[in-house]
Amino acid sequence: MKETNKYYLNYLINPSTFRNWIFILVIILGTGFFSGCEKDDDPVIEKKEEKTEVDKDKQPSEEGTNITLYKVAGGKIEKIKDFEVKGDDLKIQKEKAKHTKLWELTKKIVPQDYRKYIGEFMIMNSEEVAGYVSDVKEDLSLWQFGLAINLAYANGEPENNKDFVYTIIHEFGHILSLNISQVDASVKESDCTHYFTGEGCARSDSYFYQFYKEFWEPIWHEFIKVESDDDRSAFYEKFSDQFVTDYAATNPGEDFAETFANFVLSDKPKNSSIANKKILFMHQQENLVQLRKHIRTEFKSLVSLKGATIYRIPWKR
Ligand SMILES: [Zn+2]
Repeated sequence: MKETNKYYLNYLINPSTFRNWIFILVIILGTGFFSGCEKDDDPVIEKKEEKTEVDKDKQPSEEGTNITLYKVAGGKIEKIKDFEVKGDDLKIQKEKAKHTKLWELTKKIVPQDYRKYIGEFMIMNSEEVAGYVSDVKEDLSLWQFGLAINLAYANGEPENNKDFVYTIIHEFGHILSLNISQVDASVKESDCTHYFTGEGCARSDSYFYQFYKEFWEPIWHEFIKVESDDDRSAFYEKFSDQFVTDYAATNPGEDFAETFANFVLSDKPKNSSIANKKILFMHQQENLVQLRKHIRTEFKSLVSLKGATIYRIPWKR
């Protein structure tokens, strides 16, 4: 049984609630604890054979319900399997056109160069987790990209849903920073002289390692002391000027993804808080600037909403 890491973006309506902190805690704990028992860890190819089968495994309850799993091939999604669901979940499962639409929206955000890293696409129904990514190949060359379709359609069409577009960009930020070109999964934690992401060792020239070195190394001695929920709140409060959202303080991986989403959707910052310096760091990376331009062109109406809170967590702190 392979252990998989999962990167969540949950909707933190009230970050102090115990339930939400549990999710964050799971992430902080290196998430290697998320064993693959409830999820499918078989290589993509093997899943082809399961096309007509229905998964009878118990659904992971806190995360939400898996609805339909797709394989991504040639820019299109092909059903691998429908999970055994009932009630509202079954209704969602039957609305396949909506699934495709959500994939098409993801494609608008993730350009082809990066879509090659997405091997699977999961449609789920969840009130807790808006999206996640999880490696499906240990070498980090292929990832599963999961989205909560109920949240995507919560306020009409998903392409007009700022929160949800933000979610997809956030998840893309993980793919961007954790794929095989950025992280070497063959290096063990004990041999990693850079930052160990949980999946592997961030390569010396990776975005992640540069980001970590510049912004997390100086506070690392404080971060490693974080154990309880109270510690976590205190850590964020102490360094709140360093993070674009409170969720970003979860760990370097979430910080990168949150910073990336804010980098894409917000104007180039003028003041020099450390949070803004993180965004400006991304403005210095030519490839990231191109990605930003690409996404902003696709979502003109969303990025032009100046002063709008793109996410439920106020980012103007
Ligand atoms: Zn995340």
